[in-house]
Amino acid sequence: MDIKKIAAWLEETGQPKFRLRQITDAVYKRGAASFEEITALPEPLRNALKEKFRVLSIEPETILESRTGNAVKGLFRLKDKHKMESVLLNLFPGKWSVCVSTQVGCPVQCVFCATGRRGLQRNLSPDEIVSQYVFWANYLKIYRPGEKIGGLVYMGMGEPFLNYESTAESLRTLTDPGFIGLGDRHISVSTVGHVPGIRRFAKDFPQINLAVSLHAVEDELRSRLVPLNDKYPLAQISKALQDYIYATKRKVFIEYVMLGGVNDSQSAARRLSEWLRGVAAPKSFTVNLIPYNSTAHDFKSPGKERVEAFSSLLLTLNISCTVRKSLGADIIGACGQLAGK
Ligand code: SF4
Repeated sequence: MDIKKIAAWLEETGQPKFRLRQITDAVYKRGAASFEEITALPEPLRNALKEKFRVLSIEPETILESRTGNAVKGLFRLKDKHKMESVLLNLFPGKWSVCVSTQVGCPVQCVFCATGRRGLQRNLSPDEIVSQYVFWANYLKIYRPGEKIGGLVYMGMGEPFLNYESTAESLRTLTDPGFIGLGDRHISVSTVGHVPGIRRFAKDFPQINLAVSLHAVEDELRSRLVPLNDKYPLAQISKALQDYIYATKRKVFIEYVMLGGVNDSQSAARRLSEWLRGVAAPKSFTVNLIPYNSTAHDFKSPGKERVEAFSSLLLTLNISCTVRKSLGADIIGACGQLAGK
């Protein structure tokens, strides 16, 4: 729902100011799926809104639930017929997280990522991002009554800071108590190391969690895995994170996709620990290890033992560390698998 366009149209057509609040409350807080359902509005207004606008800017094409029931992937059609994916994940009993996309495809082209292989088709608009949350909130109401969305992660298709304006506007709608009102700390935005984006984000959203996908701490290897590293090498990322931590006093989440035989050795764990210590005190970080999910590329999974050894070593070195459960691998909805088709 494009709030700005609806607000402008309501004003143009001489509607009282409170109409916008009636619409946003009905859609964002009570889950109205169509303008017809907003019975507080006069019927002619409902009909006119229906003619001109859409409650959701995305339309589900396929919804796939994982066998374990803890991940649901949606493939959505956009109004220009592009397609993108968004995932609902059950990390804790009764509590769900939405993994939202910010772009159709992604220009960064990380070598292990199915989204990257598509390249960039286009950026998503703020309402296309917010619609992903609204869709999944309504989905839970119907299929899992009583269960709620506890968090939102910007880790789907795309690099959020390469679509900064839409990302920022969607964050404002999601956190504004007058609209959706999610707590800042329930939202995480993940970047692959877009340095200007990290710096803007520190100023604009100091209370929203920042996650940085690192994957390697040597420029040569990292540039092979994440081509954006050529533009923003590790020294620049390190400085941006130092400034971020100093300014916000917040912890940074480090995402680390473990690729078998590439970055999963004990010496890689040691180097990661040293690199983090060079940025800030170890308590400033939590490392999330993400064992690689096959996307038909040349990489292989690191195997359970290597993941455990890597994580134990980080913990011994006083780096807080978790291993991400692989949810949704059977529906190609796990990390790095979203391809939008
Ligand atoms: S991992 Fe993230 S930044 Fe890299 S290509 Fe995939 S979606 Fe883009």
